[in-house]
Amino acid sequence: MSRISNRSLLRMLSVLFLVATLALWVNPAQAQSVPQVVNIYSARHYGAMEPVFQRFTQETGIEVRLSQGSTQSLLERLRAEGRQTPADVLFTIDAGSLWIAAQEGLLQPVDSAVLRQAIPANLRDPQNRWFGLTQRARVIVYNPNKVRPSELSTYAALGDRKWRNRLCFRPASHIYTQALISSFIALHGEKVVEEAILRPWVANRPQFIDSDSRIVETVAAGGCDVGIVNHYYVAQQLARNPNLPVRVFFPNQTEAGTVVNLSGMGITASARNRDNAVRLLEWLATTGQGADASTLPGGNYEYPANPAAPVNPVTASFGTFIIDPQPKSELGRFQPQAIRLLARTGYK
Ligand code: FE
Repeated sequence: MSRISNRSLLRMLSVLFLVATLALWVNPAQAQSVPQVVNIYSARHYGAMEPVFQRFTQETGIEVRLSQGSTQSLLERLRAEGRQTPADVLFTIDAGSLWIAAQEGLLQPVDSAVLRQAIPANLRDPQNRWFGLTQRARVIVYNPNKVRPSELSTYAALGDRKWRNRLCFRPASHIYTQALISSFIALHGEKVVEEAILRPWVANRPQFIDSDSRIVETVAAGGCDVGIVNHYYVAQQLARNPNLPVRVFFPNQTEAGTVVNLSGMGITASARNRDNAVRLLEWLATTGQGADASTLPGGNYEYPANPAAPVNPVTASFGTFIIDPQPKSELGRFQPQAIRLLARTGYK
């Protein structure tokens, strides 16, 4: 009995093998035509990212498909789509949002020796569900024709009455503002942030401009004297025009340090192209970290997360500074509180 079924099983397998071999022989291209892709939900909108992804595709044959949106809208999509999401990767401009996504189970851990080696522990999730790829300092930008650097010190000091009608800030709706206020709350507590930072800032009647680039341009044009922006927006404009009257000041150097956020990635919990996503992450953390000026982060003038990667010379010209050492998770933990506090204090 068992001999007969073994024999018939063997016969079936031989037929199957023959069919499969024939199919390959008839159309060998078909065997290799499965397209290799990785689908990214990206909150980044920088043109500089495109050459990086093109280079990744050239080197690996994996096509990168981008779907862009605000951090909040991408998180909403991931929540709504659940296991049906077409996204393999979430790419954000804020570590706090990656922390929130991980907390909600939207990301999965990646056990990769390459990533552990390339990205310092303080720039990634302790459970390896997300990894920082670039670092961005939230700095003070000032017009040297209007302001001496000795007049500047901390973020909070911009609440001094001397800055009335001289400030340009990003609105409360933007993740950069929310992350900054979250870090303040983590450091000082909500009451101090409200009374010693946000209310004095608002009393100085800042202009709210929903673009860091335009804040830099407005400072350069004399429309305001001081702003708060990510450092690379200043670097980008100085690279184009070295004579532009804007300078970077790193705040809180006599206190905890300047607030630094991350742009980074996590792989979605149900990623269908998980291997390709891991390959992308590993590539961005190593080869893609800024080997030349057109690649990430050099192309965007950010600080690489990988300490072995070179820093763009314009960015390096800003000098070294003390970084606020709080864990990046705090930017997510205090985000809801920051949003409520911004609304309550009348910060637009
Ligand atoms: Fe940005």
